Amino acid sequence: MSLDVDATLAWLQTEAGALGFSALGVADTELATDAEHLQRWLDQGFHGELDYMARHGTLRSRPAELVPGTLRVISVRMNYWPDAAAEAWSVLGNAELGYIARYTLGRDYHRTLRPRLKQLCLGLMQRIGPFGYRVFVDSAPVLEKALARKAGLGWIGKHTNLIHREHGSLFLLGEIYTDLPLPAGAVEQQNHCGSCSACIDVCPTRAIVAPYRLDARRCIAYLTIEYKGSIPLELRPLIGNRIFGCDDCQLVCPWNRYAGRAPLADFAVRNGLDAPALVELLAWSEADYLRLTEGSALRRIGYPGWLRNVAVALGNGPATEPAVAALRERATHPEPVVREHVAWALEQLASRRAGAPSG
Ligand code: SF4
Repeated sequence: MSLDVDATLAWLQTEAGALGFSALGVADTELATDAEHLQRWLDQGFHGELDYMARHGTLRSRPAELVPGTLRVISVRMNYWPDAAAEAWSVLGNAELGYIARYTLGRDYHRTLRPRLKQLCLGLMQRIGPFGYRVFVDSAPVLEKALARKAGLGWIGKHTNLIHREHGSLFLLGEIYTDLPLPAGAVEQQNHCGSCSACIDVCPTRAIVAPYRLDARRCIAYLTIEYKGSIPLELRPLIGNRIFGCDDCQLVCPWNRYAGRAPLADFAVRNGLDAPALVELLAWSEADYLRLTEGSALRRIGYPGWLRNVAVALGNGPATEPAVAALRERATHPEPVVREHVAWALEQLASRRAGAPSG
């Protein structure tokens, strides 16, 4: 019996909706233009220490090399914005609180998306019999934004995130590589950035160096999550109170007036981390950190990375007695990266107390 590809796609879209995804589309595997764009970005060194980007270059742009037999990529998006979280700008505007990117206030999104993608494939297998597939969520060798664009899920904005005209950009992406010959003629969304430059103008570290070009080495998401070392001195004051990721470029994007909200409780705020007091976060023991970030993507940076980021944020805040005392408690931490950032923060607060210019 031959496969009815249109009916299969319609079934996948309905089931994906029932699983909490806001859209599902299909792309072919032709990514030559996007591969060139990626190569130019790598040649300019904008990937910083994201060595895997360079390592997986060819695999990223040739899905059938990564998963032999791949004919199509099914791309999905899921809204993550937690409605009940403290208002983002008011947290960003309060230097005694830490700001955590809103996609990671709840359960680790990998744990939410991946099993649902697998469930989708197993359900389809029951309907049509065996087929080849592999599931990816935020995976290094997958050019996920380009694939989502080709699948009709949105356009890539000047901040380099995917945006949809009716759904904004506050969603996560996932992919299924498959050998099913699904229809891949999705109409790509037109680019609606126009003359807007709000994301470029708001970026605290000027990481969007030109429209559609992000210098990851300056990006706060990179510096606070991917980068493990000593944060460049000139960038520390610009990080403000952002301790894990940054949402500014998406918060200002006019298309996010239409952004959907998280359909699943997985994204609900845990442990008050939507507006946590920095002084309290620095006081966490390693056991506290492991307990309070259990099952969360915040685990990615490890305890020393957590203390490093919180110390920088405290160094950017007011020179209160509790802030100075909390930092002093960490001044002899065994990890050099923590000690160094704590020392920097104490200097910042001391110079602020003395009324001297900081920076
Ligand atoms: S803020 Fe403006 S320029 Fe940036 S992605 Fe949104 S619409 Fe495009």
